[in-house]
Amino acid sequence: MAAASADRTAAGQMPGVRRAVILLGPPGAGKGAQAQRIAERYDIPHLSTGDMFRDHVSRGTELGRRAKPLMERGELVPDEIVLGMVEDRIAQADCANGFVFDGFPRTQAQAEALERVLARNQFGLVLVLHIVLPGDLLLRRLTGRRICKAKGHIFNVYERPPKREGFCDFDGSELIHRADDTEAVIGERLAAYQRQTRPLVEFYKGRGLLKAVDGMGDVDRVTLGIQEILDGAESP
Ligand code: ADP
Repeated sequence: MAAASADRTAAGQMPGVRRAVILLGPPGAGKGAQAQRIAERYDIPHLSTGDMFRDHVSRGTELGRRAKPLMERGELVPDEIVLGMVEDRIAQADCANGFVFDGFPRTQAQAEALERVLARNQFGLVLVLHIVLPGDLLLRRLTGRRICKAKGHIFNVYERPPKREGFCDFDGSELIHRADDTEAVIGERLAAYQRQTRPLVEFYKGRGLLKAVDGMGDVDRVTLGIQEILDGAESP
């Protein structure tokens, strides 16, 4: 079996396989943590549209200025802004062998536009991993989440606390509590997910691209489930 024993370098660099992985699931499902691991294992970039927007906000760009009030309310940024940003990003050289999307697409219009972009760029292998998890766990994961300033390592004060409070275990940098990880905004983010993003489950099921992943349990167990799927899907 290719599965668990697949060599990391071979998986990342297999000629002709251009891997586009999409992580679908509600805020708090663990998309960010899993995307980091997929990126590392398969040597492809981790494309988080949320991180891209936060970067624009912190640099004070025009795009950041438009996105900021929406993000603060937990609403989605308009499709045309997201799409322009994503298209520019995947045109960069490091995306040539594939990439993993975290937080994109989030609406049907984004999903349809992405199909056109991927077809134009001849991405043959698209896999959508739907991380499934009960609603009550999400709130705890989001309110407890802390993110390292330097590299984005993710901790949770309830489930995965750092060894030293407020600092990253891996690089010692400060841990940040995201401004939209507060109960008031989380409610709106979950509602936006149900309303605008959840219908993509049916959309991708209809395309035969969707694989369900059990998001319960610890991060390593979820990662193993994902690796089995990705390694098994190696050859288109
Ligand atoms: P979450 O943990 O809620 O999945 P993200 O970091 O992915 O958070 O996104 C934070 C915010 O950035 C969202 O609430 C939304 O305002 C904006 N955003 C990120 N990705 C998209 C997208 N694909 N479409 C529209 N808005 C987005």
